[in-house]
Amino acid sequence: MGGYYSQDEIRDLVKYAQKRNVMLVPEIELPGHACAALASYPSLSCNGVRPVIHTFLEGKSIHEEIFCAGKETTYEFISGVIDELCELFPSPYIHIGGDEAPKARWQKCPDCQKMIKDNNLKNEEELQSLFVRRIGDYLENEK
Ligand SMILES: [Zn+2]
Repeated sequence: MGGYYSQDEIRDLVKYAQKRNVMLVPEIELPGHACAALASYPSLSCNGVRPVIHTFLEGKSIHEEIFCAGKETTYEFISGVIDELCELFPSPYIHIGGDEAPKARWQKCPDCQKMIKDNNLKNEEELQSLFVRRIGDYLENEK
């Protein structure tokens, strides 16, 4: 148990499921529940600091550490993840999360605040809508 699947293991799982008429629908989380990704790529967070990783058993499942919505590198990273998922999973669906995303970091982040201003948004909630819409548009064009 390494806590992850290799791409070959995913391909085996997809085949196993297909033989049993089961559709595997991949789920990624954004902009919240991103601590694992941000631990590997802290530059995708608002403050660039590597977050402390907690296990599920340690209790806290909602963290202030979320993807920065003001940096283009965040969108490029997520687009790359989507490209890999689309290659591995034949499902016409991909779950992209969207819930449990505290906005404390976005409120203090110059990049997120600039994105809000540049797009004439009212607040961080509208920034999340923009964020999810951009990823949704990319996914729609990819699939
Ligand atoms: Zn930010």
